[in-house]
Parts: sequence; C-alpha cells; structure tokens
Amino acid sequence: MSNHLFDAFRAGVRPEAPFIETEAGQVWTYGDMFKLSARLAATLVKLNVQPGDRVAVQVEKSPEALMLYLACVRAGAIYLPLNTAYTLAELEYFIGDAEPRLVVSTPEAKKGLQPIASVKGAVVETLDDKGGGSLMALAASEAEDFDDVPRGPNDLAAILYTSGTTGRSKGAMLSHDNLLSNAATLREFWRFSSADRLIHALPIFHTHGLFVASNVIMLAGASMYFLPKFDAYRVLALMPRATVMMGVPTFYVRLIQSSELTRETTANMRLFISGSAPLLAETHRRFEVMTGHRILERYGMTETNMNTSNPYDGERVAGTVGFPLPGVLLRVTEPDSVKPVADGETGMIEVKGPNVFKGYWRMPEKTASEFRIDGFFITGDLGMIDERGYLHIVGRDKDLVITGGYNIYPKEIESEIDQLPGVLESAVFGVPHPDFGEGVTAVVVCKDGAALEEKDVLSALYDRLARYKQPKRVLFVAELPRNTMGKVRKNTLREIYADIYQN
Ligand code: AMP
Repeated sequence: MSNHLFDAFRAGVRPEAPFIETEAGQVWTYGDMFKLSARLAATLVKLNVQPGDRVAVQVEKSPEALMLYLACVRAGAIYLPLNTAYTLAELEYFIGDAEPRLVVSTPEAKKGLQPIASVKGAVVETLDDKGGGSLMALAASEAEDFDDVPRGPNDLAAILYTSGTTGRSKGAMLSHDNLLSNAATLREFWRFSSADRLIHALPIFHTHGLFVASNVIMLAGASMYFLPKFDAYRVLALMPRATVMMGVPTFYVRLIQSSELTRETTANMRLFISGSAPLLAETHRRFEVMTGHRILERYGMTETNMNTSNPYDGERVAGTVGFPLPGVLLRVTEPDSVKPVADGETGMIEVKGPNVFKGYWRMPEKTASEFRIDGFFITGDLGMIDERGYLHIVGRDKDLVITGGYNIYPKEIESEIDQLPGVLESAVFGVPHPDFGEGVTAVVVCKDGAALEEKDVLSALYDRLARYKQPKRVLFVAELPRNTMGKVRKNTLREIYADIYQN
C-alpha cells in the first residue's frame, strides 16, 4: 500500500522547483522539502510516534512547521495543529482530549506545557520560528530518505479542533482522501499550475492556510511566498511577482484602504480568492473598481474542506459563495423535516462528498447527530440558493461569531465571564466591525449591589482566553432580552448594538 496523500504530492513536483520563499529571501525547493520532511518523519519514529498517534503542534508559522505536517503524513501520524493564541488553560483541554504522543511547542511555551503533557504521557519537543529547537536538533542527524508509512484513503491525516457550542471544542477527523480529493478538485477548478506563485499570509494551524493553500500548491508543484502574518504593505510589494492570493475578508478590507492597490500593482495577479467569513459585497465592488479583478469567494469549513466556489470563468457574484464544487452534493433543507426548501428560501445547508470529514474525535454521539441518515452533514450554516443557482450564506445557526476569519462560539466566552465575581449572567454575540468582519461583544448583568466596569471584565479575561476571543466591548444591562421559552434573544442584541463599531 502506498501513502495516499504524500504519494500525490510527490507525483506533482520537480525536486529542483521552488516551493517556499520566506520574507528573508530564503528559498526552499521541493527537494529540500523531501529531505527535511524525511528527517523529521524519522525523528517522529525515534520518538516512538506510531501510525495513528497524534502529534500536537503549537508553533509559529515557518517552512519547518509545514515540513512537520508533511513528516506526520509520511510517518502515518495524525497532525494536530493548534492556534498559537491558545492559552495554557485551553491547551490542557486539547492535550487531555487528543492524548498526543508528542507535543511540539515554541521553546518559550515548553516549561508551561511540560506538566500538562506529562500527565498524558506525551513528550514535548520544540520548534522556533527560525527553524531551531530541540526537534530540529534531533532531526539533524537523521537520513534524508524515509520509507513512507503506508496509509490508505480512509486513514486519518489530521485532527483540527473546531469551537463547540457547549463550550467544548470538537476534533474534526480528516482522512488522507478528504484532504487529497478536495485539493485535487480546487487545483483543477481554480486552474493552478506549476507556474503559480501564491501569496501565503494566512496562519497554518487552520484549514484555510494549511490545507486549501498549501495542499493545492503542492499538488500543482507551484510555489508560495510565506509571510508570518498579513501586512498590506508587504503583500502589495509581492504582487508584481505573484499570481494568486488566498485571504480572509479582513485582508481585502485592509488592501482597499491602500492607494497602492491599483491595476498596475495587480497586473501580474491572475486570481484573488476569499473565504472563511463573509466578504462584504461592498468590499468586492471596491476591489474591482481599484484593480479590475473580481474576487472569487468560496465557502468551506474545517469539517468539510471546501464546498462551493464562485466560477473561475463565469460571473463571480458579490455576496454569494457560488456553486457546489465538482463531486460535492449540497442541499438546503428545512431543519426539522429535512425537505429541500424552494429556491430563494432559507434553510440549513447540508453537504455530502469525499471532502466531508470522518466524524468528531471520540464523540460518536455528537458525530451521529450531525449527519442525516443518507450521509449528508448538517453544516449549521443557514443558506439560500437564488434563481441562478448561486448559494448565499444567510447566517449561522449556532450563533458563531467570526472575527478576523476566526470562529468564536459565544458560549465559551459567556462561561468565562459568568465565573467572575459580581457577574450574574452574560450574553456574547457578534456585530459588524469594519476591520474584523464581526467584533466580539459582551453584555453583562451584574449581581445586586455589584459594581463592575468594562476594564474589570477585560482584565480578568486577559489570561483566560486567546486574544482574538476577548470581547472588543463589554456593556452593562439590567436584564437580558429573552423569548417566552427563556432563551436569550441574540438577534435583538445584535440589532441594538449593530452600530457600536461604526464611526
Ligand atoms: P472554519 O471551520 O473555521 O473554517 O469555519 C467555517 C465557517 O465559516 C462556516 O461554517 C461558515 O459559517 C463560515 N464561512 C466560511 N466561508 C464563508 C464565506 N465565504 N461566507 C460566509 N461564511 C463563511
């Protein structure tokens, strides 16, 4: 048996072709990728990582970090990337749940992580943003060839944690073929070739930067400019040498604020792709006026990879996410009866196809409740298909807040706030924010006689929650609006505070 995913990467590339160029101008060829991923795969084996073991990774973005993902694929391990913003309290849950054999952290985080990992019998090694650290030191003495561990299409390649509505994160299990089939579809659909050079300014712990961007590039044998994070100035400077950019809507909001964004600057670019959160139709139009390019918006999620895309050749309609990708079945249903709704009506988006994940890690009941008996996955997104067949994302059933491309479930933030002395209850929701798409906003009801201020709540949350999850505003109310069933009316809150971030 072959290694389903890595064999496909191997087949698509020439060893001498460039793969990654860093900000410092360092170029990694595909040959370099083969060598380092082999050395790291051998290191994993030495560290007793067996096929099917999890390798949890919380490190800064670097080419070496991407090689570690590939090393896991080659060694038959399950790659488990973690957001660099997660605090120790959050990491404790992920490590406890996933029970990795190995945890790879930054050198600074090792001390805090060690006791948490030890309880679960995991070893901690380090990788820094310059490609140093204890893991790399071990890899230095390994051979540049490695016999890839055989893996079939249904073997797991990765687990990516999503947020949980009940506050508990769920690990989405993604197989070799979930990743490969989707990357192959996107390569064809978006016309990637070895001549492409992608501007990669996304994080690599999330499906967008890790799988959509990197897997597609490797399958095409193309190359990418790796930026540690988005910076409009740097991205604009790269455009004359690049051909494609993948971004979250925030990137585009920032770019259109620059007078450097012109037809000339973007003349070499063939494609701008947006996803992970809704792109405002206004941003789409402004971008076109400034550059002549129509941004191609697509829709996907951690559990499903990419589901829909606006067309490459046909009309890219602002405010829509296009049509189901080849091989993806999509329907919009009445959530209770599961009957498809008529075009133009809103319902639950459900999808089925080789892209759809294998279930939530160690949560068989949760998994079963999110799939229909005919195999369709209930996305939790509400959508509408218009008369031309374009899908519109109408809202999120689960009250997810998306800020700067990251998902936040209000319940997790509410649980933290509710624990603070003097707090009776709270409600967290998202409202439009010019920079982040949505701003996390909290309303708090104090206990009788308690006098809390916004800064008290914010400082108490500082060490408890990743930065991006922290509310941008905390407001105080006498009581929460509720319906007759006692549920908090989040829509009402969103309406009341709709303009809070608009100047
Ligand atoms: P994640 O699992 O972090 O990739 O988040 C997936 C969620 O992001 C989806 O379920 C949607 O709610 C949202 N999403 C992704 N792409 C889009 C888009 N183009 N427009 C609106 N929402 C989107």
